[in-house]
Amino acid sequence: MNDTLVINTSALKHCACCPAPCRSAIPAAVSPGNEAVIPSALAMVSLAVVGGALPPTPATRSLLENTAAASYCVAVCPYGHDIVGLVRQVIDRYFGVNG
Ligand code: SF4
Repeated sequence: MNDTLVINTSALKHCACCPAPCRSAIPAAVSPGNEAVIPSALAMVSLAVVGGALPPTPATRSLLENTAAASYCVAVCPYGHDIVGLVRQVIDRYFGVNG
């Protein structure tokens, strides 16, 4: 665990409640109807981990590591949020190398 890393939870909260206009940038082949992989879903899971509501299990890590679809949103997010980068910070902070 990286204890010195401060997670930008404001951006995560904003993204978690966003209607995800960025989803149009995700190719259908990358996210065939899977709402769990859009940025707002990843942000919600990240917040649950940060807040202690969701334990940092391998299954949770697997959810958060599925960022292929969300990576298409980084360049088009109208709010400038790099949710993939923030999710990676959450993984680093709460899961470490063995989580
Ligand atoms: S990445 Fe940006 S546009 Fe996409 S859901 Fe998050 S805040 Fe909304």
